[in-house]
Amino acid sequence: MTWEELNFLCLNCTKCQLRKGRHNLVFGAGVRDADVMLVGEGPGETEDREGVPFVGRAGQLLDVMLEIVGLSRDKNCYITNIVKCRPPENRDPTDEEQQACIDWLRQQIELVKPKIIVCLGRIAARELIGKEFKISVSHGGIFDRNDIKYMALYHPSALLRDESKRPETFLDLKKLHRLILDVCPWVLQ
Ligand code: SF4
Repeated sequence: MTWEELNFLCLNCTKCQLRKGRHNLVFGAGVRDADVMLVGEGPGETEDREGVPFVGRAGQLLDVMLEIVGLSRDKNCYITNIVKCRPPENRDPTDEEQQACIDWLRQQIELVKPKIIVCLGRIAARELIGKEFKISVSHGGIFDRNDIKYMALYHPSALLRDESKRPETFLDLKKLHRLILDVCPWVLQ
């Protein structure tokens, strides 16, 4: 499948109830053959309005986090979410909604072919690393799945709500930087 075909299918997808409430599909953004991919849980209000992932306050914080590591959505990473349509009132996407949407993400991963996937928050980590994943315990750890290295960070929204998590996230970002240098150092050149 090509990017254009996938985008078209997503745009016309009615596989779950989130389709009814959204204004725009939030498909993904960044470099389409990046070695590092970031996956959040779902679009918020600003993202829904603009059709672009991570552009609200959490997105601004994510850009700062990316800069610390040497990443930028314009240059060397691709960003998307588990669900592509906004859950109402910014609630968590349900298991059914995640399962309805996950094939689109799997297709995106096949097209991007990343070496590293960074899960932003509990929902992405549970979907991609393991159902029992506890973000408070295992953030910053490295997991191998199908020849891809996975790491989970606290979601930027969680860091906005609770600044006490920021020092440990800074340490996780240093680990991510080292992981990139180990796995695909050319990303940072
Ligand atoms: S959230 Fe995903 S599965 Fe649900 S309608 Fe939107 S694109 Fe389709």
